[in-house]
Amino acid sequence: MKPILSKLPDLKTSIFTRMNVLAREHHAINLAQGFPNFEPDTRLKSLVNQAIQEGYNQYAPMEGIYSLREIIAEKIESLHGARYHPETEITVTAGATQALFTAITTFIRPGDEVIVLKPAYDCYEPAILANGGVPVLVQLKEPLYEVDWDEFREHLTEKTRMVIINTPHNPSGGILSREDLRELGRSLGDSNIIVLSDEVYEHIVFDGKKHNSLSGDKDLASRTIVCASFGKTFHSTGWKMGYCAAPVSLMKEFQKIHEFNVFCVNHPIQRAMATYLEQSEHYLDLNAFYQAKRDLFLEGIAGSRFRFTPTRGTYFQLLDYSDITDERDTELAKRLTVEKGLASIPISTFNCAGQDHKQLRFCFAKTTDTLEKAVNILQSV
Ligand code: PMP
Ligand code: GLN
Repeated sequence: MKPILSKLPDLKTSIFTRMNVLAREHHAINLAQGFPNFEPDTRLKSLVNQAIQEGYNQYAPMEGIYSLREIIAEKIESLHGARYHPETEITVTAGATQALFTAITTFIRPGDEVIVLKPAYDCYEPAILANGGVPVLVQLKEPLYEVDWDEFREHLTEKTRMVIINTPHNPSGGILSREDLRELGRSLGDSNIIVLSDEVYEHIVFDGKKHNSLSGDKDLASRTIVCASFGKTFHSTGWKMGYCAAPVSLMKEFQKIHEFNVFCVNHPIQRAMATYLEQSEHYLDLNAFYQAKRDLFLEGIAGSRFRFTPTRGTYFQLLDYSDITDERDTELAKRLTVEKGLASIPISTFNCAGQDHKQLRFCFAKTTDTLEKAVNILQSV
């Protein structure tokens, strides 16, 4: 047999996997990969157990169970005033990753251009490339990682088929304002460009700010697929459950790929989620919960040699180390793990052309004990 021609010849193992391996090898505190080191609510776990015992152990409907789609539609309507029909405009997915991959596969043909704002979460570009698309990278502007809309517009061409938006933004913690959404809408005009909006951190926004979902903007919503993740909201990243919402014309096409990709996703967890979502405090209380963790982390490192702007959303905090060393962020992340026992993510891996802004990303979705140990280490750097 001749050598296999890789579809993704330049792709390396993800930075999350690499930092996890290093953290394990050196018994380091792992603030690298984003996951809570505490359990989901006992009631949610009981509901999953109950669904298994009650016999919801065979395939669910392709789009997800109706009661879950219905409550998702109600949640979006009450938060953003947008009405998605549960029958035709919501699909339950195996986490946001599957929703994003499926959406990209549904709409991207060879040669289509997709705008990706950098630094970007790492699952977008491989999906675009695997479908023969062309990622068009636009760097966000420091210090707040904002979009330069003039630069954005310069990258739109006749081949642009999709724009990927992520708000609240991983890794910077930035959030798009209403004015940003207006700029996006104006930039897209009457083109047929589709927007893929990754909103997995929708319930983790701080200091009284509001998450501006693209579903809440009538014009944008008509061309947008919004993706969400129960993993982030309910401390259950290992369950890989999420959903997406889009107008029927887009969702119909999405489901053609979804059906032959996974057919359907985990049935007992869908049952549990449908009941658990009935109480809105289960997701509305998350802002305050994570704001307390962010503040504990930031109060802990006050007076250290790291500089920071308090993150506005997500459970990630960027720390600038340019007063400490001029090492590359990849080198410092490794050295902190090996020598100090604290793992983080170097964000140059998500930037255009590996630009190094001397910043590391720390995940504060951790218990108080873990955060206290981490801040002691950071104080000693
Ligand atoms: N998008 C972003 C920005 C993320 O941070 C994550 C979490 N890793 C995902 C998508 C994937 O979410 P899920 O774990 O539900 O697939
Ligand atoms: N979303 C998680 C993060 O940003 C990582 C998930 C993964 O390892 N792919 O840390």
